[in-house]
Amino acid sequence: MNAPRAPLKALDDALAELLAHAEPLPGIDEVTTFDGDGRVLARDIVSALHVPPQDNSAMDGYAVRCADVTPSAVLPVSQRIPAGASGTPLQPGSAARIFTGAPVPAGADAIVMQEECEALAEGTQVRINAQPRVGQSIRRAGEDVTRGAVVLSKGERLTPAALGLAASIGMSTLPVTRRPRVALFSTGDELVMPGDIAPEQMPPGAIYNSNRFFLRALLQRLGCEVADYGIVPDRRDATLDALREAAQQHDLILTSGGVSVGEEDHIKPVVQQLGELDLWQIAIKPGKPFAYGKIYRDQAGAARRGPHNACHFAGLPGNPVASFLTFMVLVRPFLLKLQGATQLAPVRTALPAHFNWPKADKRREFLRVRRNAAGGLDLYTNQSSGVLTSTVWGDGVVDNPAGQTIAQGDLVHFISFAEWLA
Ligand code: AMP
Ligand code: MG
Repeated sequence: MNAPRAPLKALDDALAELLAHAEPLPGIDEVTTFDGDGRVLARDIVSALHVPPQDNSAMDGYAVRCADVTPSAVLPVSQRIPAGASGTPLQPGSAARIFTGAPVPAGADAIVMQEECEALAEGTQVRINAQPRVGQSIRRAGEDVTRGAVVLSKGERLTPAALGLAASIGMSTLPVTRRPRVALFSTGDELVMPGDIAPEQMPPGAIYNSNRFFLRALLQRLGCEVADYGIVPDRRDATLDALREAAQQHDLILTSGGVSVGEEDHIKPVVQQLGELDLWQIAIKPGKPFAYGKIYRDQAGAARRGPHNACHFAGLPGNPVASFLTFMVLVRPFLLKLQGATQLAPVRTALPAHFNWPKADKRREFLRVRRNAAGGLDLYTNQSSGVLTSTVWGDGVVDNPAGQTIAQGDLVHFISFAEWLA
């Protein structure tokens, strides 16, 4: 008789343990602001100036003193201030022709847009047809950023908008954390690379290697340097050599397949032989066989072996959807933490289910769904862990607690793929 099985680890506990192993990588790179997209800031970025630097016009029009404007007042135009110029103080009883972005001259307290003015006498005079309010159409100095403010914080992942903001305070380079070096392996003797064998010639039992493609792309999106080692044969010696070798030069070894319970699954015993297996099997569906451990770089004497000089190891299940989801739920936050990122969890939105899910599972489930025009979620009909179509048809998942059924109209937790892929 089999011994009673230990209960599977809950996802939140597994994630907490995993993150406890993810010490941020040492080292800072200085990259040009152009190259910062997706990188994680290594230091706070503080502004050395106000943005905008001075009060400036939000409109093409005329700078005036409100007190000088009576109904249909005609004022002499005393100066012309295009963007990039700086004017002279505005004389009482006069107006200045001004353009968007140009500094507001001292003494002026409002801009009247040109659509509300009439140029007279070849532009030497102007009739003001609307009564301005003090401050109207003036963009105040420092209204975007004040001098001394932290505009971007250590641990933030840079977005295109953040690069623009950094440039707006004069940053031409940015301090970012080091990219994780990741070795990627696919396992499985059934795997064939697209291009190596044509679809019509595929032998029985062969399938194309799909995991390799999305895993490499996901790693790159997360800022990793990827060394893609292709397919390792389902043999213990080959697996041993491949992992031992890759551990020397990388921060993380990521494998897919071969981490389940069959005798063709060599990954787990090899990790145990070369280092330690810290986590295996998690109560999620799909994705139960996920494994995490460390491979010691120094295999020599027992005294020198140990986790202090080790390469992280994460083993994803072979089934493509399980591989994709365990990457998102576990490997993504792990890699972000290695890079020192502070925001690790995706935003979850409460949305109504426009479907029924009458059969609860013992494990926490990630159901592939798509938002519909009515503001609800539709379910992909086939939720099998091998059906990759579900992840393309869908635009996210419902994170459904263990033991939970769903009835049409229930509010559920939605996580969008866009959020995970960002
Ligand atoms: P395994 O975890 O190795 O037992 O694999 C589970 C299932 O996933 C099997 O049906 C494999 O053929 C499939 N699989 C494993 N690796 C890949 C891959 N790289 N691409 C597509 N399917 C895979
Ligand atoms: Mg396999």
